[in-house]
Amino acid sequence: MVNEIEELRKRQIRAWPQLAQGIEGLARARTRRLRIDWFDIFVRHIPHRAASTTAAVDRESIAKRPCFLCVGNLPAEEEGVPFGDNFTLYLNPFPIVDCHLTIVHRHHRLQRIAYELGNMLDFAAALTGYFIIYNGAECGASAPDHLHFQAGSRVLFPIEKDTSALTGPTVPNYLRKVFLFRGSDRAALIDRMEHAIGLLAETTGRREEPLVNIAAFQENGEWTVYLFPRAKHRPDVFYTRELTVSPAAIDLCGIFVLPLADDFAKVTGDAIAALFREVTLPEAQFCEVVDQLERER
Ligand SMILES: [Zn+2]
Repeated sequence: MVNEIEELRKRQIRAWPQLAQGIEGLARARTRRLRIDWFDIFVRHIPHRAASTTAAVDRESIAKRPCFLCVGNLPAEEEGVPFGDNFTLYLNPFPIVDCHLTIVHRHHRLQRIAYELGNMLDFAAALTGYFIIYNGAECGASAPDHLHFQAGSRVLFPIEKDTSALTGPTVPNYLRKVFLFRGSDRAALIDRMEHAIGLLAETTGRREEPLVNIAAFQENGEWTVYLFPRAKHRPDVFYTRELTVSPAAIDLCGIFVLPLADDFAKVTGDAIAALFREVTLPEAQFCEVVDQLERER
């Protein structure tokens, strides 16, 4: 699969100017390493992410715009490759990381993770060297109305290094709240993830789907899954315009995207730490879920 993607990438860079421009934009992106406590955050200034960071994703705005993931609305030059039974894989024209892909369901259906965890793990198994992410409809997905995942190269994927010695189910003192699951038994792993998502739905009163971002990868037959339970989508500094940020899975994994140059120059580790605390689940609710998970192990 990875070779097929590389071929697609070469063809699309030649055929699709917007993608070539996006890849050039990423090559020009500046990245600054910020030490926070015992881990690093890679702050990345990517001007071409401005539209996505500030996109209106409320129900009304979404209903008014043509869906940019439906096949009929894609740019004429955009080409994908089939992936699994129901998905197509495309190059993302606004990349945050190398080999940034979008994995799109063939049909226009809501962004929901229920019954899709198995697909997510299968994508991780098929894409060696990549991470796969899911952004919940209300916490980072720019197309909350069309089921999709993203993938990207793990050459820079800070959370993997941060957690390499840990077995879960949490990552202590990491500022952002996250569940960590590892395993090579696909069905057992899906059970644990579903269970955690169910507990989050109960605890937060979000019965349809709790606010979550998920990242997963596979190495030597073992999956690693990071499940970020969210308290809210955008932090207060977004609305006060102090910082133009809209954190989703990639930011929580340690690549913090800032589309504005001023923000890139001024952002501090303390500001990012505060923002992580604000957008992920509060301590008390998180501990409640952790206790239940541990009790039932
Ligand atoms: Zn659609």
